Amino acid sequence: MDLSSENLIPQVQHSDVGHGRGVYVSTYGCQMNVNDSERMYSLLEMANFTPVASPEQASLIIINSCSVREKPVHKVFSEVGKYRKLKQKNPELKIGVGGCVGQQEKENLMKDQPMIDFVFGTDAIDQLPTMVAQAFAGEHRLVKAQFQHRAPYHVETLVRNPGVSTFVNITKGCDNFCTFCVVPYTRGREKSRPLKHVLQDINELIGRGVKEVTLLGQNVNSYTSDCGADFADLMEKVAQETKIERIRFTTSHPKDFNQKLVDVMYANQPKICEYIHLPFQSGNSRVLETMNRGYSREEYLQKIEMIKKAIPNVVLSTDIIVGFPGETEEEFKDTLSLVQEVGFETIFAFKYSPRPFTKAARFEGQIDEVTKSDRLTRLFEAHDLMARELVKRYEGQTLEILIEAFDEKRGNLSGRSSQNKLVYMPGDASLIGKTMPVKITKAFPAVLRGEILPVQ
Ligand code: SF4
Repeated sequence: MDLSSENLIPQVQHSDVGHGRGVYVSTYGCQMNVNDSERMYSLLEMANFTPVASPEQASLIIINSCSVREKPVHKVFSEVGKYRKLKQKNPELKIGVGGCVGQQEKENLMKDQPMIDFVFGTDAIDQLPTMVAQAFAGEHRLVKAQFQHRAPYHVETLVRNPGVSTFVNITKGCDNFCTFCVVPYTRGREKSRPLKHVLQDINELIGRGVKEVTLLGQNVNSYTSDCGADFADLMEKVAQETKIERIRFTTSHPKDFNQKLVDVMYANQPKICEYIHLPFQSGNSRVLETMNRGYSREEYLQKIEMIKKAIPNVVLSTDIIVGFPGETEEEFKDTLSLVQEVGFETIFAFKYSPRPFTKAARFEGQIDEVTKSDRLTRLFEAHDLMARELVKRYEGQTLEILIEAFDEKRGNLSGRSSQNKLVYMPGDASLIGKTMPVKITKAFPAVLRGEILPVQ
């Protein structure tokens, strides 16, 4: 069957592998990993496993770990080590490692840690029930970590409890090969889901009570559907052809962020939120070139100007790396000045750390840890001062807040504005899923506090 011509998403097979046994997935990493874990839970529930709240209750433990930052392999080994007693108590317990670390390390993981029963890569998630069945049937040291380069990217969004706001994958992988980044090696070549599949998923999620979707990919701006639609076309279709109330997207790449998308965002407000996460990584053009980012400082600033001109209320956040190999003090100061010039309300900043397979790991001029830490501290301090001033403008404003959750202990509701500001306010659970006018009484860099106003 030609699936794309039928406009159908392939359906997942159901079979009783679990016999009701407990499964626990331990997740480290980015939103992609969190989404993958949701997919694993859903697939395993369909195979009759029962999600449990702690490893002690599980007969199957899966570690889904990121390898973008930190020391991922050590983290996996130390976590598996914690399960030694559980495995001694219950020899039937199976332990699997997936995600980017599984993709990157493959059989190496089992060589060094014999308690691991199976390893699977980022393209093998849908084979998880089969692998688990093999593991419970006594097969040991299973590895499935081949990229399916030629297979189309046809996955339905599998979320157990989507809540008010949820993520929908639209692309996977990345072809950009930034010199610091391991993603092209752990997630493979970039692929996009057909536009019709994305719309179908969103319509189903709306039927389950979802009010807001975040379209998710490593580089959403290079999305290309099999029908030729680009990311701006997809955003327009989602805004105009579904009843979803709010649309967000992440992550954008500055080199692919274009006027067409800005025009679609402007034309479809308030459905498309006034928030953009646009990583710049370094404020210096020479460093950006050695990072292979595909834009200069000036070009990045031109994109920001284009966005702010069309959407004056837009709130911007970004990712930054300090201490990239060869970065001088003056070049680091260019990063500090770019943060001030753009006026980011939120930054996600990290010290450079060499990742396996990447070009930058072999660059000369690696910066020592003390200098990297010093630069990171100075960046956070400078940003914090600025952010405290920036957020004061919210005090006294009335924002439309989509209520997402209720904290029973504190009697507090929480929700987000179009600009992705997290707001806490008194109220009751009956308001979850509703968009309410909220007067902001106090603004801090990370959260706002407010009071719900009567609806006019
Ligand atoms: S765009 Fe660069 S940083 Fe982002 S996922 Fe691709 S290679 Fe990594």
